[in-house]
Amino acid sequence: MSECLFCRIAAGEVPSERVYEDERVVVFRDINPKAAVHLLVIPREHIDSLEDLAPEHDALMGYMLRLLPKLAREQGLADGFRTIINTGPGGGQIIFHLHIHLLGGPGLPGF
Ligand code: AMP
Ligand code: ZN
Repeated sequence: MSECLFCRIAAGEVPSERVYEDERVVVFRDINPKAAVHLLVIPREHIDSLEDLAPEHDALMGYMLRLLPKLAREQGLADGFRTIINTGPGGGQIIFHLHIHLLGGPGLPGF
């Protein structure tokens, strides 16, 4: 059994509120939402962070990026959304399984 929390969520060993999944990615609600809508988009493949991307991940990363506006629309975010990828301790990364935060909804603060 993996010790990585997000691998375990992807495998269904740890519960999450999934909003989308396919053979490459799983999308679920952040347990501690920072906005009205706060999703986490993760690859099923374990990749620690952006630091660990290789050319073989280019298609996967493109796929995840192109998924974001579709997810946002499905969540009712008709006029836009914010994405964040924290990388490394200095970037505020806590879970070392690459993930994209998708945030939006009323009251999203300026950045
Ligand atoms: P990061 O700081 O970018 O590593 O973000 C990790 C995110 O994972 C935080 O926003 C946490 O609230 C979220 N998180 C931690 N545990 C869980 C969980 N079991 N289910 C959903 N989200 C989680
Ligand atoms: Zn993992």
